[in-house]
Amino acid sequence: MAPIADQKFTYDLLVIGGGSGGLAAAKEAVNLGAKVAVLDFVTPSPRGTTWGLGGTCVNVGCIPKKLMHQAALLGEAIHESAAYGWQIPDPKTIKIDWQALTTAVQNHIKSVNWVTRVELRTKKVEYFNALGYFKDQHTICGKMKNGEEKLFTAKNILIAVGGRPRYPDIPGALEYGISSDDIFSLGEAPGKTLVVGAGYIGLECAGFLNSMGYDATVMVRSIVLRGFDQQMANTVAEEMEKRGVHFIYEAKPSKIEKQSDGRLLVHWVDKDRQTHQDIFDTVLFAIGRKPLTEELKPENIGLKLVPETAKIDAIDEQTNIPNVYAVGDVLHKKPELTPVAIHAGRLLARRLFGNSTEQMDYVNVATTIFSPLEYGCVGLSEEAAIAIHGEDKIEIYHAYYKPTEFFIPQKDVSNCYLKVVAFRNGDQRVLGMHFIGPNAGEVIQGFAAAMKCNLTFPKLKDTVGIHPTVAEEFTRISVTKRSGLDPKPQSCCS
Ligand code: FAD
Repeated sequence: MAPIADQKFTYDLLVIGGGSGGLAAAKEAVNLGAKVAVLDFVTPSPRGTTWGLGGTCVNVGCIPKKLMHQAALLGEAIHESAAYGWQIPDPKTIKIDWQALTTAVQNHIKSVNWVTRVELRTKKVEYFNALGYFKDQHTICGKMKNGEEKLFTAKNILIAVGGRPRYPDIPGALEYGISSDDIFSLGEAPGKTLVVGAGYIGLECAGFLNSMGYDATVMVRSIVLRGFDQQMANTVAEEMEKRGVHFIYEAKPSKIEKQSDGRLLVHWVDKDRQTHQDIFDTVLFAIGRKPLTEELKPENIGLKLVPETAKIDAIDEQTNIPNVYAVGDVLHKKPELTPVAIHAGRLLARRLFGNSTEQMDYVNVATTIFSPLEYGCVGLSEEAAIAIHGEDKIEIYHAYYKPTEFFIPQKDVSNCYLKVVAFRNGDQRVLGMHFIGPNAGEVIQGFAAAMKCNLTFPKLKDTVGIHPTVAEEFTRISVTKRSGLDPKPQSCCS
């Protein structure tokens, strides 16, 4: 049952970081009777942006990103609606009001911040707006906004400090660049934007900016969406290019200068060491994220960090210091996703205070890139499956398809594509599912549950689809890559 408060310490659990993982663990722990405190502090971005309680997802991640993606989809829908008979004014006059958009997004975020604070108070989780660091393995020093320092002692300490965007070490990057920490509350419309980095954050930002009518360019150092199925990743980029996003491949920025008119002159170097330049209104860096572990003064307790990444290589969320745990984006080689942080935090609290033995399963976690045409996936990529199991053992099923709703506005269907990675023999277990098309996140979520239940290819084929949906295309898939047959769609309803 309830934890036995150790009289030596003020708290049973002290959480450093009030984001997805930290808050989930804190709330679960108090539900189980623990005495819990959370320290959360946001250091302003180089541009000066700061925000409230709730961490990355709520303030500068998933939530504002999804809202901006939705704004972009609505713009698309307005234009398509004319084909369906809606009488709309001249499409050229339809424009986004950036200030109205950011105000609406920020108002929503502030309401979530407020609800989060109220929830903590109601649940009796003690919250301190303080930057924490280790004094010893049971003591955290919290530095408040006014500079005052306060000591907190706890039997268990949870590190859930997440990460922040990296900036390249080039002249002008910090002075003139922005990151995803700034874009969702940017006071002025971003105008012509260079997005440096082709991970999911870079592609999503470039995607919604382009759909809103801003000129967007992605600068790619090597490949797009590293770690994802590369055929799917390239299809996402190709679709974005078709919609007007520019891509500069195999290039790195070398300098940013502010011109007298306030615009930014960006210099970059290509793979042949040739230099180029162009003028942009905004430069957004999306070149990866840095965990906020060094700020915790890990040396004070001998906490080990992975030298290359400064992340924590915890075993079952326990660090090398037995009473110090870690969840979320700070963990080495674990998916950097909100539901992962939340689930791991909750399970850890149950193990610490609820006699549970259930461990976090980091395998087959589904994810979605909210690019203009979304890409959702779960499980192994084609290349990972082949690398792990060998080409002979793997079957790749694939298909192009035509979403019904694309017909009337005559939308391009050429990149609506899906793929199933499965064992070729035996039970033909499904190892990976990949989907590019509308509502990919919604589509993949259900199939992720099926894969958790050991979905096999025959079972997938035996599933009766819902017609007409895009998700049913997974139940209609039959062409293997090995066969060389055309994966283009036949008729809609047979
Ligand atoms: P965080 O949520 O980052 O919380 C950490 C908190 O700790 C922060 O408030 C931080 O300021 C605070 N802190 C740091 N150091 C200290 C300290 N020393 N003392 C006190 N407080 C401290 N994930 C998805 O699942 N789906 C998405 O669509 C998605 N989109 C994203 C889009 C963007 C642009 C970004 C940047 C991320 C996105 N993510 C998405 C990732 C998701 O936001 C993170 O995986 C998640 O927030 C990680 O949670 P966390 O608890 O590890 O850390």
